[in-house]
Amino acid sequence: MNEPVLEAVDVAKHFAVANSVGDSSVVRAVEGASIRLEPGRITAVVGESGSGKTTLARLLARFYEPTSGQIRLDGVTVAGDGIRRSTVPKSYRKAVQLIFQDPFGSLNPLHRVRHNLERAVRLHHGRLGRTEVDRRLASLLERVSLTPASDYLDKFPHELSGGQRQRVVIARALAVEPRVLLGDEPISMLDVSIRLEMLNLLDKLRREDGLALLYITHDIASARYLCDDIVVMYAGQMVEAGPKDAVISDPQHPYTKLLVESSPDPHRTTATDRDDIFGAADELGEPPSLIDPPPGCRFHPRCPFAMEKCRTTPPPRAQLADGRWADCWLHDEGRADELAHATMTERITRKLTEEPR
Ligand code: SF4
Repeated sequence: MNEPVLEAVDVAKHFAVANSVGDSSVVRAVEGASIRLEPGRITAVVGESGSGKTTLARLLARFYEPTSGQIRLDGVTVAGDGIRRSTVPKSYRKAVQLIFQDPFGSLNPLHRVRHNLERAVRLHHGRLGRTEVDRRLASLLERVSLTPASDYLDKFPHELSGGQRQRVVIARALAVEPRVLLGDEPISMLDVSIRLEMLNLLDKLRREDGLALLYITHDIASARYLCDDIVVMYAGQMVEAGPKDAVISDPQHPYTKLLVESSPDPHRTTATDRDDIFGAADELGEPPSLIDPPPGCRFHPRCPFAMEKCRTTPPPRAQLADGRWADCWLHDEGRADELAHATMTERITRKLTEEPR
């Protein structure tokens, strides 16, 4: 295992919210999250909306300060541990870049591509002559396959396609020569036809620059295509992690199995539909509120394997082969092989039949 560039250690983020009558509550957006981002490796964080994955990316980007736990850059704690919240140093902003989901909102619509890129180049490289700036702008656009640069530099964002805009956003992130890219659903708003191109671009950047990449997505198929490792989040907590092929071909947590089976797969013989399979899980129980999450395992209301202790006691972490782990009582009970014996739809149907609601 290589040394991580960026790391979250047992991080939690709680938000105080007030309702319409002024009562306050706490949203437990992320709890107990640990992740390591290594040079030249891509780690996907997958889960439904509300699972906490975007909050995790924003914690790593230091848009939010952790409620507890630490964020470490090169092994040095930069957030948490009683470190006073202050302006994030320029060196951190330079090392860690966040790419947002919406390329439309990421660029200043009033300025041409040239201005959007030049600002980043000048902020991070100081005073440069016109010729050097132009050389850097052309090189950046070339790196994201927008060539010739002269076709793009004087365009406004609205004159570009969604894919071209996202490439400009990535070029702007590269302008500061980062070591970590955090992509928050970076392809989900793009046309399906160009998503593969964007994934290939991200893969090229990690290979050429040795970037550590975090890829946030709800789409396990794209995570399988792009990433080395997968971390699965549910209701603000990480529930399973490991090398991508192992996690996807042999899930060791029922929620991962639900995600995998609801994902389109041309090789699978049984037809599945995401809404149908999640709808079936919802018949067992609702997705949880992060203000008052269920006790025990947070997935227990929707889990067809749930046992009595799942309702009361958080599951221990089972350490598995090849650096994998899963937080599920099935491992402690010696019942993990049951995960491979039936589809989630079959298990849910059986559970609903046994325990009609
Ligand atoms: Fe299901 Fe229990 Fe495992 Fe949670 S701990 S995923 S409820 S079997």
